[in-house]
Amino acid sequence: MSTKNKSALFQKLPSTDELLRQRNIQELIQRDGHAAVAESIRAVVARLRQEIAGGHIAGIEPSEKSLDLAVGGLFNAIERELRRSLSSSLRLVINATGVILHTNLGRAPLAETALDHVRGVANGYSNLEFDLETGERGKRDVHVDRLFRKLLSDPLAASDTVAKSSSSSITNAPSSTSTIVVNNNAAAVLLALNSLAEGGEVIVSRGELVEIGGSFRVPDVMQKSNASLREVGTTNRTRIGDYERAITDRTRLLLRVHRSNFEITGFTEQPGLEELVALARRRNIPLMEDLGSGALFDLRSVGISGEPGVIDSLRVGVDIVTYSGDKLLGGPQAGLISGRADLVARMRSNSLFRALRVDKLTYAALEATLLAYVKRDHDAVPVLRMIRLSKDEISHRAEALVSKVESSVGMGRPSRLKLELCDGESVLGGGAAPSAVLPTRLIALSHGELSADRLNAHLRTSTPPIVARVEDARVLLDLRTVFPDQDEDLAAAIVSLG
Ligand SMILES: *Cc1c(COP(=O)(O)O)cnc(C)c1O
Repeated sequence: MSTKNKSALFQKLPSTDELLRQRNIQELIQRDGHAAVAESIRAVVARLRQEIAGGHIAGIEPSEKSLDLAVGGLFNAIERELRRSLSSSLRLVINATGVILHTNLGRAPLAETALDHVRGVANGYSNLEFDLETGERGKRDVHVDRLFRKLLSDPLAASDTVAKSSSSSITNAPSSTSTIVVNNNAAAVLLALNSLAEGGEVIVSRGELVEIGGSFRVPDVMQKSNASLREVGTTNRTRIGDYERAITDRTRLLLRVHRSNFEITGFTEQPGLEELVALARRRNIPLMEDLGSGALFDLRSVGISGEPGVIDSLRVGVDIVTYSGDKLLGGPQAGLISGRADLVARMRSNSLFRALRVDKLTYAALEATLLAYVKRDHDAVPVLRMIRLSKDEISHRAEALVSKVESSVGMGRPSRLKLELCDGESVLGGGAAPSAVLPTRLIALSHGELSADRLNAHLRTSTPPIVARVEDARVLLDLRTVFPDQDEDLAAAIVSLG
């Protein structure tokens, strides 16, 4: 196309000012404001200019029409652009994967009471750092420290069976247990290592030098904390003697890292926590455990073993435990450091703490979540409710959903969509007990003409988006992680696949 033709086309384009004066555009301005509308107009017009420049909109008669068409469709294009630019990128999705703590889907959904408390507190000012009794400056940690104290020093409050099964080798959690909150567990580990071991050595088993989620590597965090790593043992076997021989006058800390997302099986050996506690006491060196998931709820009551709780570790005598707020605890993203009050005090006075601290939203959500534990209202915490859902309950919902879909899709004619129910397993996720699974009932979808991947993509782009997994050429939906009030949306999305 000649340059002359192109410039003729450019001249035909309405200017931003012309467009802004149009009546229907004025209506958009009323709704969404001048700045956003003007920006959308500029974006759409710039796209058109690019298409003209690239010769994608022809100028030679009679196809000049295509520009008229494009100009005619301007309003719709502008409105679409406006909607796209003003809609949230972060959206609610339906998690039908059956992975309860799905890191990519935001881990723990918050309890209603947590959301209410966030709203109630963040809607105005709060006593975040203000002591209402004395009228003096207060500390933000007091709001949750008192609840952690209750939950951690009174094992009955958090888990009934731990207390009952306590053996004589278990010592009680120190009554002076305190807890501080930082941004996430990675920050908790960083702060703890820096406060307790800067310039010295930390002894860790080679079998525990883990990477979690591709970004948290124990050796890297260690380096950033200015402590040096003293690796002992081998990948599969570490004995207590390995730790003992590595202790020098540079040793500041013994560290145990929970193998969150993998298991080493076969020819393995790892000293028991009691042995590590005994060694730490004998040599007067603190013992820290990075628990990761850190349940405050006894998972043995739902048949999951091998996932030690925070109370278990403190009662055995671990000095400092670090864990996440948004894993098994079921609260907001946070890193929690619980343990010996004197050690926690050193972390609180570290200037890093100021950089890693959390805001009032987190304190509010955490406080309300902990209150549910104090009241033993475990079903108020979505993560715990999902863990405790029985296969029967899930099965009933799945059957109801399938018959609902079948009655709407079928409408008397054969459908290409096939729904089946089958047994399966939900997983905790979030680096908790990698082998811990919960029996569930799955809805399996297949389609005469669409592949499982296509079905899955359709679900992902529905409103709200539905995330499922594909296995053996079928889409599998696990209602354990779907909130019951989402069943209807899920059914409607499946019907639309028919
Ligand atoms: C999850 C996990 C972490 C990282 O916790 P974040 O809260 O995601 O920062 C660190 N250590 C262990 C053992 C974990 O399981």
